[in-house]
Amino acid sequence: MDMDIRITKTNSSRIDGVDFDNLPFGRLFSDHMFMAEYKDGQWQNFRIEPFKSFSLHPATMALHYGQEIFEGMKATKTLDGKPYLFRPEMHAKRLNKSAARMCMPEFPEDMFLKALHTLIDLDQGWIPPREGSALYIRPTMIATDEFIGVKPSDSYLFFIFTCPVGPYYPKPVKLLAETKYVRAVLGGTGEAKAAGNYAGALLPAKLAQEKGYDQVLWLDAREFKYIQESGTMNIFFVIDNKVITPPLYGTILKGVTRDSIIRLLRDAGHEVEEYPITIDELVEAYKAGKLQESFGAGTAAVVSHVSEITYKDFHMVLPPVEERKIGPFAKATIDGMRAGKIEDPYDWMVPVKSPSPATVA
Ligand SMILES: *Cc1c(COP(=O)(O)O)cnc(C)c1O
Repeated sequence: MDMDIRITKTNSSRIDGVDFDNLPFGRLFSDHMFMAEYKDGQWQNFRIEPFKSFSLHPATMALHYGQEIFEGMKATKTLDGKPYLFRPEMHAKRLNKSAARMCMPEFPEDMFLKALHTLIDLDQGWIPPREGSALYIRPTMIATDEFIGVKPSDSYLFFIFTCPVGPYYPKPVKLLAETKYVRAVLGGTGEAKAAGNYAGALLPAKLAQEKGYDQVLWLDAREFKYIQESGTMNIFFVIDNKVITPPLYGTILKGVTRDSIIRLLRDAGHEVEEYPITIDELVEAYKAGKLQESFGAGTAAVVSHVSEITYKDFHMVLPPVEERKIGPFAKATIDGMRAGKIEDPYDWMVPVKSPSPATVA
């Protein structure tokens, strides 16, 4: 495989017009994007080009049958201005697990990493300098055969684009435990970061929002009993000083943030259990006054505090953020590592390498 990345730089950078103190989330895109095509059984034509729209044939298979997967990750700058990626190899592996489930070709891990380093090095001026802000990175793969008929596509497009995003301080979220709709079933596609999972979740989320909630708390598809996750976040509870998060049943997305939080909380001496907690156990813990905290974990916000969980007509109102310890500690640790203020003993922070032409194999 020819591993060269051909680089065409923009001659009209848009960066001067950007107000880095007021960044809209997900609506502003940086100067360049990476692209590659899968054709004749292999990935080829690796290139970085000025960010642009592309046109698609109306029969492009991704648009009809949903072979579309993505990743969401961040590049940040430490306070001394050096760019870093957070656990990029874990995202590379997860992308390929999603690809395998959706019958799509794997994207070579080494090429994925090289593309990330090259692209982020080139657009590092787009990483917002303020602590807590980041360059959000969206690797995406779509099926591109122009064909009507259900089969795996023979051709694919892989691309990576980026968006500068400001510090994200979400207000605490109110969750409604969902007792009618499900996100994922055992044997389904819930573990893949695949587009269709999100489309199916829109209606239940909208109905919950109409009732005054921010998101749904998913329960398992068979018994509506075991807690799964929420929106695009994995869920954590603190009960009687023990941290509990559902295990990866095969229906829950394997969050990089979830994994990181479990590790750093354990290393800080907290008891963390991956335990198939039921909604009834949560209600009992609440009634006994033992439910101390709940928070969601995901790349976008790192930690989102949960202020209320409602199950059927029972409202569980959680203590205010000031009284919590675990969620704020986890967020401060990860944000602190990103800013270079807290030491990273795990090598999660990977410095962006500027690939010199000589190292381009
Ligand atoms: C992306 C995502 C998460 C969080 O994963 P991170 O790797 O921590 O960002 C959790 N649940 C769902 C459904 C997701 O799509």
